[in-house]
Formats: sequence, structure tokens, C-alpha cells
Amino acid sequence: MQVCAVIAAGGQGKRMNSNVSKQFLTIKGHPILYYTLNKFEKMKILNEIILVVPPADVKYTKEQIIKKYGFKKTIIVEGGKERQDSVYNGLKALPKDADIVVIHDGVRPFIPVKIIENSIEAAAECDAVGVAVPVKDTIKVVDDKSIVKTTPDRKALWAIQTPQTFKYDVIMKAYEKAMEDGFYGTDDTVLVERMGLPVKIIEGSYENIKITTPEDIIFAEAFVSMGLADPRR
Ligand code: C5P
Repeated sequence: MQVCAVIAAGGQGKRMNSNVSKQFLTIKGHPILYYTLNKFEKMKILNEIILVVPPADVKYTKEQIIKKYGFKKTIIVEGGKERQDSVYNGLKALPKDADIVVIHDGVRPFIPVKIIENSIEAAAECDAVGVAVPVKDTIKVVDDKSIVKTTPDRKALWAIQTPQTFKYDVIMKAYEKAMEDGFYGTDDTVLVERMGLPVKIIEGSYENIKITTPEDIIFAEAFVSMGLADPRR
């Protein structure tokens, strides 16, 4: 079984209020992207990793991450305007005989390796798999005047994370159709949902934060100190 990964790190990180894109910010001496890639590089089951970065950061990534840390399985591809454009560029660079594709955000370095493995196992059985956690807060649906319309039953609500893992043919067709239709989603599984195919949810981890806003850096520093970026866990 040929298993590949696409790591989406092609964003500018506007919500971080920093000149440096969030995936390149340094935590305890290493860029966030190093911690994420290190986990995927150490996974024996993965054959190839496509890393998608902004065009302006290709050179830096090659020298300061791939070469510096001796990563061997990773190929760099240029990102696009939206996350979906970046992931699509990554998918198009995959070997055509790939069986399973793991798509992961470059800014989620604390994903336990066991959960990545679980998602690969599940995708081998059922086409499309998203890692998610039960929501802790009650969620409100509001109208454009901030008036609450409904309060969905919390028991049925899950917050979707990455990895999102797919059979190669399924995710390629779903992306091609979405791009053809000009449809943009906020995750990858929604593109499979709109094809009328089932998407399975497996349990993720609350540690698997997406480093997005400045306060996340404080959590990220604590998590690195606790060893949560270690590929052996
Ligand atoms: O901005 P957002 O929270 O959706 O970013 C999630 C991941 O997608 C980040 O790792 C970011 O670098 C990546 N991304 C991308 N290309 C874009 C925008 C975001 O690969 N154009």
C-alpha cells in the first residue's frame, strides 16, 4: 500500500499579527513546521510527503528546514491563494499510484502519531476519514444581525481537525469536481460529502491545536516543553 501525505503550509497566517507566516515561527529554537514534518518523516508507513509552502518561502524551506534537518521523504510544492488551492497543488504532485493520502495542516505539530496511523487504517476501509473532537462549548447558529436562530444539539457536534485521510481516487475526484464548480470549502472532507459519499469521523485529540492566533504560541511552547511534539508518542 502506497501511503503519501500532503502538508498544507501555504498560508500567510494573517491572524498571527506577525511578518513571519505562522508555520515558520520558532518555538524553543525550531520552526513550527519542523515539528510537524518531523512526525511525518519518522512514520515508516509513509512513502512520500508533499509540503506546500508559499512561493516566496520555497528557498527558505529548502535550506532552513529540509536540508537543515535532513528530511528525506519531503518534496516542496508552491501553494495557492486559498488553502484549497494549496492542497490541490499538493495533490497534483502526488505519485499517480498512491493508494492513501493523508492531508494535514502544517500548523498542527501536536497530532499524536497514533491518531495519524488510526486515520490511515480507517481510510483503507472507508474512502474518507476526518479526525475530530466533540465540541466543548454550546454552539449557536446566528443570523446576520447576531440574533440566535437555533441551538443545535451538542451531542451531535464535532470540531473537525486534520489529518483528513482518503483513498487517492476519491480525494482527487472530489477536488477536481470542486475546482470545476468553483466550490470552496473550509476543510477537505466537505468536498467528498458534496459528491454524496460517506465521511467517517474518528476521535482526535484536544492537544491537536491549530496554531492560529498569538495566544496559541503560549500553549505551543508549553506543549513542546511537555514533549507533545515528540514523534515517538
Ligand atoms: O488559515 P488556515 O487556518 O485555514 O490554515 C490552515 C493550514 O492551511 C495552515 O497550515 C496554512 O499554512 C495552510 N494554508 C495553505 N494555503 C493557503 C492558506 C492556508 O496551505 N493559501
